[in-house]
Amino acid sequence: MSQNNCKRFKTLAIHAGQPPDAAYGAVMTPIYPTSTFAFRGVGQPGPFDYSRSGNPTRKALETCLAALESGTFGFAFGTGMAAEATLATMFEPGDHMVVHNDLYGGTYRLLATLGERRVAVDYVDLRDLDAVRAALRPSTRALWIESPTNPCMNLVDLAAVAQLARERGLLTICDNTFLSPYFQRPLELGIDIVVHSTTKYINGHSDVVGGAIVVRDAGLAERIGFLQNALGTCEAPFDCFLVLRGIKTLALRMEEHNRNALEIARWLERHPKISRVHHPGLPSHPQHALALRQMTGFGGTFSFRVRGGQEEAFRLLGNVKVFTLAESLGGVESLIEHPYTMTHVSVPPEVREAMGITPDLIRISVGIEDVADLIEDLEAALA
Ligand SMILES: *Cc1c(COP(=O)(O)O)cnc(C)c1O
Repeated sequence: MSQNNCKRFKTLAIHAGQPPDAAYGAVMTPIYPTSTFAFRGVGQPGPFDYSRSGNPTRKALETCLAALESGTFGFAFGTGMAAEATLATMFEPGDHMVVHNDLYGGTYRLLATLGERRVAVDYVDLRDLDAVRAALRPSTRALWIESPTNPCMNLVDLAAVAQLARERGLLTICDNTFLSPYFQRPLELGIDIVVHSTTKYINGHSDVVGGAIVVRDAGLAERIGFLQNALGTCEAPFDCFLVLRGIKTLALRMEEHNRNALEIARWLERHPKISRVHHPGLPSHPQHALALRQMTGFGGTFSFRVRGGQEEAFRLLGNVKVFTLAESLGGVESLIEHPYTMTHVSVPPEVREAMGITPDLIRISVGIEDVADLIEDLEAALA
């Protein structure tokens, strides 16, 4: 679409893939809840034939996602994990993959099943390029990256990893869920495949689960499109409509998430009961310079450590009133959780500890409420 190349992010969010409806001029993309589409005549299929293979509502979302990630082809999936599982099936027995050792618990669980299918996976700290080089084998096919990582907010230098991968002919996959394309566009840094849980910031209203993949390369797109259809991992039309509706305010929401989270992070850093704040927007973050280089904002999710271990962490979790104790992130409402016993409980304890997921760690997803109320809530809960 020509508008991909000539319009800016906020305009693309509203218009890419979403021209007024051809039938009646509806300004909002209609939901097409149909399994099948009538042929125009014998041997004359229309642009869509069966909704697993393609659906107009999904097509609008996929076109918009591709434009926002500055990609060429987008794919919408029923969940973030459905998108990741579709990618995982691209690998054959005997293949090897190098995976960041600090990533979403569900991704860890999925990739663990690859071992059972005889795809070898090594978990490496992708912040250390020498360690990456040392882990490569002749059978290595891909590098799987998450940045910032969940929940410790470590960053991977995407351009550097992409270049190393290109020299070796390896595929790079980057989970961009935490920042959304508004704050980070991995394809522009040389990454091959961007994957999302659209459940989080992209939809942003905690009322749907969804996933996405965006690529630039036509060959990769053909393979992923084939797998999406073959596996049936696609997103339903109604859910696509909800995600599209959420996307329209993505830029506004991300600005507010970012502003609120940074203010809370600065406040927490000065609080005597907090021993450490992991937020890439703080100068105390060891990769603050990289954050300023490869991201245009820091998002709304970060973590911190409470003095007094799990007991004090649990006290904070039990005392908050505006924050909701829940897993997930990226919605308009603020959430708080305990990675050690909640989101990351499926990661083996020794790996959890090595990742820095200790019992004193709290993760918050800062919403778009009034930040003064959020700070008052934390202040009262910590008192
Ligand atoms: C939530 C999440 C996923 C999984 O997405 P679902 O929509 O829950 O299936 C993958 N990666 C990251 C970083 C996530 O936060």
